[in-house]
Amino acid sequence: MGRLSTLFDPETVAVVGATDREGAVGRAILENLRDEFAGRVVPINPSRDEVLGLECYPDATSAPPLDLAVVVVPPEIVIESIRDLAEAGTENVVVITAGFSETGSEGAARERRLREIAAEHDLNVVGPNSLGIMSTPNGMNATFGPESALEGSISFMSQSGAFITAVLDWANDQGIGFRDVVSLGNKSVLDETDFIREWGDDPDTDVIIGYLEDIGDGQAFLEAAREVTTETPIVLVKSGRTDAGAQAASSHTGAIAGSERAYEAGLEQAGVIRARSVQELFDYARALSGLPEPESDGVAVVTNAGGPGVLTTDAVGDSRLAMASFTDETIDRLAEAMPDEANVYNPIDAIGDADVERFAEALEIALEDPNVGSAIVVAAPTAVLPYDDLAETVIDELEAHETPVVACLMGGERAREAEATLRESGVPNYFDPSRAVAGLDALARFRDVRRRTVAEPEAFDVDRERAREILARTKRRSDNRLGVESMDLLEAYGIPTPAGEIVDDPDRAREVAEGIDGDVVLKIVSPDISHKSDIGGVKVGVADEDVYDAYEDIVARARTYQPDATIVGVQVQELLDLESATETIVGVNRDPQFGPLLLFGLGGIFVEILEDTSVRVAPIGEDEAREMVDEIRAAPLLRGARGREPADVEGVVETIQRLSQLVTDFPAILELDVNPLVAGPDGVQAVDLRLTVDPDELDTEEP
Ligand code: ADP
Ligand code: MG
Repeated sequence: MGRLSTLFDPETVAVVGATDREGAVGRAILENLRDEFAGRVVPINPSRDEVLGLECYPDATSAPPLDLAVVVVPPEIVIESIRDLAEAGTENVVVITAGFSETGSEGAARERRLREIAAEHDLNVVGPNSLGIMSTPNGMNATFGPESALEGSISFMSQSGAFITAVLDWANDQGIGFRDVVSLGNKSVLDETDFIREWGDDPDTDVIIGYLEDIGDGQAFLEAAREVTTETPIVLVKSGRTDAGAQAASSHTGAIAGSERAYEAGLEQAGVIRARSVQELFDYARALSGLPEPESDGVAVVTNAGGPGVLTTDAVGDSRLAMASFTDETIDRLAEAMPDEANVYNPIDAIGDADVERFAEALEIALEDPNVGSAIVVAAPTAVLPYDDLAETVIDELEAHETPVVACLMGGERAREAEATLRESGVPNYFDPSRAVAGLDALARFRDVRRRTVAEPEAFDVDRERAREILARTKRRSDNRLGVESMDLLEAYGIPTPAGEIVDDPDRAREVAEGIDGDVVLKIVSPDISHKSDIGGVKVGVADEDVYDAYEDIVARARTYQPDATIVGVQVQELLDLESATETIVGVNRDPQFGPLLLFGLGGIFVEILEDTSVRVAPIGEDEAREMVDEIRAAPLLRGARGREPADVEGVVETIQRLSQLVTDFPAILELDVNPLVAGPDGVQAVDLRLTVDPDELDTEEP
């Protein structure tokens, strides 16, 4: 695939299927291009000589060389048109035409053809089923939407075309500008990952924002976004957050939505800032597109209004930020400068009769305080406070101190002009104090994303060949499952398991038990029984002399409850001290979009009841594994709360990493549960294992 710059900055753009028929999409696009585009616009249509006053060509071959073609012909001839374009040397195509994978199997087949042609000719294809694209520097509006975007530094992609038209209408009203806008359509060739890469490299894009319903290749996106967010913030609204929403989304674009938890984890790991609404999306984007980075989380609030000042303070308390505590020097200076009735502690209340001068002084003093990383000017309109002058003051102070300042000049018409002045200097104005705080919060979040270092996954010394052989055992099984008979898989990856052995007669069971210190645990071993205790297949704390009877009893129960089950034998296992230890679970699930998803939580019976779990997309390194442990509500239990001896948290962290390596090495592992992983003061032990493997996938892996 070629670079995308000519997609957004073409010299010659064709509309294939251009027409002057009233109400036709082929006309709307041509009009949009003709009206504002700085380059040449070429209509293509075999049955016209001229369209809307522009010379029309019958096909791509006879047309002048094209940098970009916008295709609006009927679905049946889209493939043919694209082939012509490719053969004539066009590299960029936007397919507006609908009737592809969103419509059923015939459309899906057509979309496959489209993908094949694109691959064959190395084409950049946007769509199909796209509203089109825009790029403001050259005035290119290659969409059939009713409005063009204003110029700005936000690049915007959307999986819904309707969303773009609605947003642009609103953004134009708000004076919010864009650099590039892309309606992704069905994403058959170019997708969200291509665009974040492109905009990440674009010096004129300050913020990338998007509305997405799904992410096609989660792992590719994660990798790209991690790189991009070291420089450029990405803010996304991902719809389908609830199950009902996800269903609506998948029927909408024919995409299979990944589980919400995978998105949550994947986007967080990618450094993406997630917005829950369109309002948040732009509240964040406006702050991220023009302000410097806050050095610290301390916020100063300057206001002339008591109530809104308190509201702001509350909102700061709810965010990751904190109200800055001023130095004594700052307080002295403020006391000097402000009237006696003013509050010189944060929030600074310059009181109702504050004029611009007083605001300027208060803001200046606050921004000079070393504990202040950002500031909010909250104002209510008064007769002595011309908003326009206040806006100028805010801009001057921001420029003098290189500290982010956002405004909350409350009001409607009265604030309009001041808001425009602020906007031109990159200062967002928010009507509501909590939104102003959210804007600053996004700045601080992005600063943390930029500064974070994500540890590379560790490569432990493991026995990969042995693991492969164990996984290959599933080839002999129709249900593709493995259980405790395959605990050696964990050993191959260096995860500790208790002493034990699987035996198939009661005398041998007793011998093994005698070789193990203390009492033992007996467990039924049957590929057909995956929840052993449910059928009385686990006996905990059996003395050596009772092992023979316990063996017989377990097998008899299994035969009664599940007569058709194949019984391999009984596992005799060292009894672990659960008094001082905690049962945890480490599991893996495969998400259709993000791939292997690691899960950690309290184990045993608690996992389903408490739903106290953390997830990450594998592979992960040590930092992320430790985050997984610390994120669960029960983490203090492991860390040693209430006089409990702390568990070997480092052992848990290492086990999570080793499992991350195992599932990354073997995409054939579809699901895996170590439940419980017993975490005690002296170490961790995996006492139970269950997994599902796709044996065919095993053969496709290189050794
Ligand atoms: P299943 O999950 O199939 O019922 P497990 O092997 O997980 O079987 O055992 C069920 C429960 O028995 C565990 O959650 C744990 O509480 C207890 N248990 C199992 N093995 C041991 C052991 N070696 N030492 C102490 N307790 C054990
Ligand atoms: Mg279990």
